[in-house]
Amino acid sequence: MTNTYAGGCQCGAIRFRVRGEPRDSSICHCRMCQKAFGAYYAPFVSVRGTDFEWTRGQRKIFRSSNFVERGFCADCGTPLTYEAPDGIAIAAGTFDDPSAFPPVVQYGIEAKIDFVDHLHELPGHSTDEDAEAAPFVLEIESYQHPDHDTETWPEVR
Ligand SMILES: [Zn+2]
Ligand SMILES: [Zn+2]
Repeated sequence: MTNTYAGGCQCGAIRFRVRGEPRDSSICHCRMCQKAFGAYYAPFVSVRGTDFEWTRGQRKIFRSSNFVERGFCADCGTPLTYEAPDGIAIAAGTFDDPSAFPPVVQYGIEAKIDFVDHLHELPGHSTDEDAEAAPFVLEIESYQHPDHDTETWPEVR
């Protein structure tokens, strides 16, 4: 049996599907990935060797170097891909179940931000605990695409 994994951007304009078993899941700390994700590091799942297809919408491309293109959703800004001559990697958090691909290697460690090694030591709070300071969190209605494929999107309300 071939496993299938799906995912897409936050707004749902772009969706993709992978048939097969993505192997290389990684974290990249390089400065270009920090910038492309607006984050301290970027998580990727390589889909090399799998059957990968876009099932809804067209990503927009930013050519970040002479070899690499980065795909993103032009409607909501979600980073989606790192596309190099040796294959495509998908932004891990865009999978409907990102927990399916635990990272096995780190890249770009010359640019790793020191405090990244200590994030797990920080105090943590659930979203509900924020309600006293920010009562609106209790009434949030999400416009994010659900973590599964849909016949149409946006849903008719
Ligand atoms: Zn989008
Ligand atoms: Zn990188």
